Amino acid sequence: MEIKLDGNAGGILQVIFPLDTMQVQATCAGCGAANAVGATAAYMHGMGTVVRCQSCDAVLMRIAQVKGRYLLDMRGIGVLEMGAES
Ligand SMILES: [Zn+2]
Repeated sequence: MEIKLDGNAGGILQVIFPLDTMQVQATCAGCGAANAVGATAAYMHGMGTVVRCQSCDAVLMRIAQVKGRYLLDMRGIGVLEMGAES
């Protein structure tokens, strides 16, 4: 079971990226689509948060919070560009 969150993944992306998440652009390693992280679909699971590609629904990023630390699995992102013009 998963709960869909807004693009900021319930604020967790705002904690990880010190920028407006609409200015952080992720290029999907699977299909090559580039979208603002703040506009991607994010889902909350028991294990953490999953951010999916808007175009192909592949997992871009997994975020887990363990004992006050954030663990990021970003193997679904080919390129992460920060400070991009939106
Ligand atoms: Zn994709």
